[in-house]
Amino acid sequence: MTDSRELPAYVYDLAGLDAHAGAVRAALEGVELYYAVKANPDPELLRVLAPHVDGFEVSSGGELAHVRGLFPGAQVALGGPGKTDAELSAEVTRLHVESPGELRRLLASGRPADVLLRANLDLPVDGASLVMGGGATPFGMDPAGVAECVDLLDRQDTVRLRGLHAHLASGLDAAGLLELAAGVLDYARGLGLTEINLGGGMAVSYRDPGALFDWHSYGKGLAALRRPGEVLRVEPGRALTVYCGRYVTRVIDVKRVHGELFAVVAGGTHHLRTPATKGHDQPLATGEPGEPITIVGQLCTPKDVLARRVPVRLQVGDVVEFAMAGAYAWNISHHDFLMHPKPAFHYLRGE
Ligand SMILES: *Cc1c(COP(=O)(O)O)cnc(C)c1O
Repeated sequence: MTDSRELPAYVYDLAGLDAHAGAVRAALEGVELYYAVKANPDPELLRVLAPHVDGFEVSSGGELAHVRGLFPGAQVALGGPGKTDAELSAEVTRLHVESPGELRRLLASGRPADVLLRANLDLPVDGASLVMGGGATPFGMDPAGVAECVDLLDRQDTVRLRGLHAHLASGLDAAGLLELAAGVLDYARGLGLTEINLGGGMAVSYRDPGALFDWHSYGKGLAALRRPGEVLRVEPGRALTVYCGRYVTRVIDVKRVHGELFAVVAGGTHHLRTPATKGHDQPLATGEPGEPITIVGQLCTPKDVLARRVPVRLQVGDVVEFAMAGAYAWNISHHDFLMHPKPAFHYLRGE
């Protein structure tokens, strides 16, 4: 289907994204859903997501301007460590405060804002792939930092304390995230806060693309945890958009070196950095069984590996389709390294 198109290319299944986002929205009844834009800010994807989400979570002034340009009236939460004064003074629905120093700068500006305090709590996070909290990390504040902020906020009324934010880990399944949520809610209730953003980090499996995060039990679990009067919000990125993208390319060369078979494809990790960053093999969407072959790109570095020892038959000229390239893929890649051409972008809209 993609053979006649310009390759390498990103192919986004917008109809699939629409269906997936609709299912996630339905599973999270009573919970607010924001999309974490840094996972993939492609405007076409954002337009599909917009009707399914309550708002967007952005991590920079750049992402904020991008979202504002597309959806002027949308609800937007701005988070991220290292906010500049310009970012702190941006008009947003919610500002996620990352440190007492940041809050002091906000208060000194005299500008009103609605804030959530980002907490870094020491809660058990077994099985997570990336840990943002529970130890010394630059994300959010430990309970002493949160207490300092509460104290600063108590003494004024320009900046309104709306609640708590906690994005503590990524790669957790529904049961793991619910356990974490229970701990975060306990902590928020102890501070008398009723609006709680539980972050993102819903697990996806690059080893087993069919193993989807269980949104249904997560939604049911959150509904059971939520007390009357509480607003719960989640802000997934990867688990919303990863499945809708494919990176499609073509085999340029096949060679055997010291007994191992390699396929060199057009493009590489400067287009799709995800496998190099996460240390996984990017799953293939299709393929005939064959002798294990390592699929590499055109870069002059041994790190330019897309997938290792994949049991598929590949010949020069064959099209190779990588699945799960819809999040943290093109937008996290080092596009200019070696100055190869950029990929094409195709959008499948369904009938
Ligand atoms: C990156 C990030 C997210 C989204 O994480 P995913 O693993 O993509 O779901 C949500 N909230 C914050 C604060 C983040 O930094």
